[in-house]
Amino acid sequence: MFTDLLNQAPQANTSSLSNTLIEHKRRDLVLISALIEHPTEGLILFETGGGRDYPEVIGTPANDIFARIDYTDDHDLNHAIAKTGHNICDIKAVIMGHLHLDHAGGLKHFQGTNVPIYVHELELKHAFYTLATKSDEGKILLMALLSTERERHAFMITDQIDLCCKGVYDSSALPLDLNWQAFHGSTLELASGINLHHSPGHTPGLCILQLNLQNSGAWVFTSDQYHVEENYHASHPQGWLARDHDDWVRSHQMIKALVKRTGAKLVFGHCSSTFVNYEQAPRYYQ
Ligand SMILES: [Zn+2]
Repeated sequence: MFTDLLNQAPQANTSSLSNTLIEHKRRDLVLISALIEHPTEGLILFETGGGRDYPEVIGTPANDIFARIDYTDDHDLNHAIAKTGHNICDIKAVIMGHLHLDHAGGLKHFQGTNVPIYVHELELKHAFYTLATKSDEGKILLMALLSTERERHAFMITDQIDLCCKGVYDSSALPLDLNWQAFHGSTLELASGINLHHSPGHTPGLCILQLNLQNSGAWVFTSDQYHVEENYHASHPQGWLARDHDDWVRSHQMIKALVKRTGAKLVFGHCSSTFVNYEQAPRYYQ
């Protein structure tokens, strides 16, 4: 597993009648990819991070909120893979939990190749529908995040906003000519020990990845079903970050049962406080 750091949006921080002077806290988060060396299928990559040019692609206002604060050459996808002793050219398949820019920015590395990109049918449809109709634009999210009328008004009168603020999906990260492979239904055993489970909520087509390893047992990579550990342990919902709250609750129930059944260790989408407890490249689990 490898990572780069993102200083993301505040968690709730909502004022109340008795406490209007709340402290606006920020929290360091991580972007995670995982490399799987499978005995028969070869190298499989799970998600790709935001990509080297994430700040430029997401645009200035959004990058001020979801700011990338720690990025070196080491975090670049091909350098991170090289740390494991492998080469990005030897990747045989990519599995995407979902296609938001902070997970899919590195897909550009696979343009011009025939590497299959596995993603749930509903995620693929939703991502391209969203791009075509501009129905989930970053501008709308920014308006929700700006805390005062004055800030919102200032953004509304800024012509630049349309030019510099992108949506949660970005066309540059989702080229049509990738070898897209859609997964249908609720569960797919992609290869021995590699299972995908459809977990809608954060997005309509999000999938979690279940890995069954010989020595370290079961693992579940949750993508953004859970951004941080509190989403899971305290059943803390995602607010405006979930596109369908009821679906999120149903997926949460499915994952709790899966973890109870398998004893799986969980790797949350962006949780730095739990991520640091796991081995990171070049170390690995078997
Ligand atoms: Zn994310």
